Amino acid sequence: MTSTFTGNHGLQIEEPLIFELDTPGLSGTDWPEASTETSYLNGLERVQIGLPGLSEPMVVRHYTRLSQKNYSIDTGLYPLGSCTMKHNPRLNEKVARFFGDLHPLQPVTTLQGALAVIHSLAEWLTRLTGMAGVALSPAAGAHGELCGIMAIRKALEARNEHRPIILVPESAHGTNPATAAACGFQVRTIPAAEDGRVDLPALLSQINDEVAGIMLTNPNTCGLFERDIIDIAEAIHKAGAYFYCDGANFNAIVGKTRPADLGIDCMHINLHKTFSTPHGGGGPGSGPVVLSERLIQYAPLPYVIRTEKGFDLIESYDQAPASLGRIKGFHGQMGMLTRALAFMMSHGRDGLKQVAEDAVLNANYILARLKDHLSPAFVGSCMHEALFDDTFLDETKVSTLDFAKAMIDQGYHPMTMYFPLVVSGALLMEPTESESKRSLDEFCDTLIHLAQQAKSGNTELFIQAPQLAPRRRLDETRAARHPKLRWVKEVKV
Ligand SMILES: *Cc1c(COP(=O)(O)O)cnc(C)c1O
Repeated sequence: MTSTFTGNHGLQIEEPLIFELDTPGLSGTDWPEASTETSYLNGLERVQIGLPGLSEPMVVRHYTRLSQKNYSIDTGLYPLGSCTMKHNPRLNEKVARFFGDLHPLQPVTTLQGALAVIHSLAEWLTRLTGMAGVALSPAAGAHGELCGIMAIRKALEARNEHRPIILVPESAHGTNPATAAACGFQVRTIPAAEDGRVDLPALLSQINDEVAGIMLTNPNTCGLFERDIIDIAEAIHKAGAYFYCDGANFNAIVGKTRPADLGIDCMHINLHKTFSTPHGGGGPGSGPVVLSERLIQYAPLPYVIRTEKGFDLIESYDQAPASLGRIKGFHGQMGMLTRALAFMMSHGRDGLKQVAEDAVLNANYILARLKDHLSPAFVGSCMHEALFDDTFLDETKVSTLDFAKAMIDQGYHPMTMYFPLVVSGALLMEPTESESKRSLDEFCDTLIHLAQQAKSGNTELFIQAPQLAPRRRLDETRAARHPKLRWVKEVKV
C-alpha cells in the first residue's frame, strides 16, 4: 500500500523497550564514583538494580516517540461512542493545578478555597439536575453507580423491605448489571423495542413489589432519548421502587432537561464525559451522584456544608447517622472537580445548553451524511451519538472489525464497535460538540470512501488492515488474559 485516501500514513518507527536500549554504564550525567563503604549505609550493601544506561537525547527520543504512538483528542477526531472523548480546554488544566499543593488533612480553616470550589460545583450540579443534593466523592461512573445503588439499598433497609430485583434494559452499559449484582441484587433484563428504546409493555409486566429499582440510561446507549421515561418513573414509584438513571450521557441533555423533572431518584454524572477532563487509558474519572429528597440522607461521607463561619466538612456518623459511609478517601478527584467547575463557569448556563445542542447536531450531521452509505441501526434522528449496524457490509466479506481496522490506516481512531450488544456488528460514533464541520466532513468522506471500497470488492484494503500502524492485528484477548507485566532480560547463550 503506497497511498491512502486521506494522505495520512501510519507511523512506523520501531521503538524497543527502554531496557532493550541499555548501554551499560552510559548516563546523561557524570556521577562521582559510588562509594563502596557500607558503614554509613547502616550496613546495607549497594547492588545493581538494573537501570538501563542511556544518554539524555536517547531518553528524550524514546519517550517522545512513544508519546507519538498515542492517538489522542489533541491529534484527531476521536469518535468512540459511549465514551464521549471531548476536548478539554487548556484553561481547565491550569485551574486544576491551583490546588496541587493542598493536603486534604489540613485544617479546614486553611482549605476554605478548595471547599468553596467543591461547594460551588455541588450547587451547579444540583441546579442543572434539579435534585436535592450531590455526592461528589465517587471516582468514576461505575463507582457512582455503586454509590447510588448502595443508597437505594440503605433506603430499603430503612423501610425494612426485602426487594431482591433490579431491572436493567438490555442495551445498558455492562457496569449497570455488574453494579446491581455487586450490591447483592438479582438482575432482570428488559428487552428493547424495535425502535431501540425500552419495550414499555415488557417493562411494566416486570414491575412488582419484589423490584428494588430500575437502572435506565437516558439518552440510552443507542444514542436515543427514552420517550417513555415519565411513564417508567411513575410505574416504578407506584410500585414503591427507586429510579436510578445512568447519566453518562448527560452531555446530550445538560441545560435542556433536568433529571429531577423526569422522576429520577438518583443519577451519576461522568464529569469526564460531560464537563471536560481528558480520560481513557485508565484514568482519572469522577462520577458524582445526584440524589432526590428520598435518598439524600443516605449520601456518603464526607461532604461540604456552608456555615456562618465559612465552609465545613461533615465527616462522621454522629453528624449524618443515615449516611451509607465512606466510599472513597477524602473528597474525590479534586483536579476533576475543579476542571468541571471551570468548564461550567466558562460556558455559563447558556453555553452548557449549547454544548448539548451542538453535540446532538454534530451526531445528526454524521448520521445524515452517512445514512445512505452505511446502515443506520434505527429510523429517525439521534441524540449525541450515531449508531449503525453492519447490514451495509452484507455480501462484502468485510466485518465491522475489518472496517474499523481500515480506519486506522486512514489516520482515525475507530469508533466503538460491537456495542451496544442489541445491534448486530454495531458501529457507534460520537463526535462531541467541539468538532468543526470541516473535521466532521473529513471523517464522513473517509467512511463513505471505505464503505464504497468494501462494496466494490476491495477486500484486501480491510482484511490486511491496518497496514500503516506500528502494530498490525494483536491478539487482544491473549494480551488481556496473559499480560506480560515484567521485562525479563534474555540471557544469551
Ligand atoms: C462510561 C459509561 C459508564 C461507566 O463510567 P466509567 O466512568 O467508565 O466508570 C456507565 N454507563 C454508561 C452509559 C457509560 O457510557
